[in-house]
Amino acid sequence: MRRSLLALTATALFLQAADPVPPMVTPGTAGSPPSDAVVLFDGKDLSKWKSEDGGESKWKVVDGYAEMAGKSILTREEFGAIQLHIEWASPAEVKGEGQGRGNSGVYFQGRYEIQVLDSWNNPTYSNGQAAAFYGHNAPKVNASRKPGEWQSYDIVFHPPKPAADGSVTPGSFTVFHNGVLVQDHIPIKGDATTSAKFSGATPTGPLMLQDHGNPVRYRNIWLRKLD
Ligand code: MG
Repeated sequence: MRRSLLALTATALFLQAADPVPPMVTPGTAGSPPSDAVVLFDGKDLSKWKSEDGGESKWKVVDGYAEMAGKSILTREEFGAIQLHIEWASPAEVKGEGQGRGNSGVYFQGRYEIQVLDSWNNPTYSNGQAAAFYGHNAPKVNASRKPGEWQSYDIVFHPPKPAADGSVTPGSFTVFHNGVLVQDHIPIKGDATTSAKFSGATPTGPLMLQDHGNPVRYRNIWLRKLD
């Protein structure tokens, strides 16, 4: 009797916790976009992007990928909190060293960079290597693949938000590099300690892929809006 009452209570709690019912989402396979994703680049064109100088993207689109070809590119749409999937490859032919090898970057709100770099046997400062929150936090591990091989980032980004008292509520980065957790809910303070140049908080901003002078390739870029 006592046991069945407990079971009944547990069932009631379970039903309460399960309400409201989460919406159905069809998951993708091998990095393909789920049904509620905003697809930013499917290998065909960069129509959802513009050049940082305001014109059309000049990046080369060939064989299902886009290759950096002068000037960073930004999304035409602006985003707040997102889950982002993006795949990239540094040049197969290794040139340069440190920050000069396969450097690009994924910028959130045009300001907070998750570094893209060839970090395969390429020492540099730790908060500037691949998958670093650039200038702020090194990845937990180096999950890099070899130069020229496709790599993935899966990133959960929550932007800093302005609070009622005028202060800023920190945001956060969580990053998986090739499926490996490398940034675990790292705070984005959104004040002058994050970046004097980009202090403050805004609700939305564009994604940006950085031109750092190296022909880094991107493919399969999609995101899910989280708020
Ligand atoms: Mg960079």
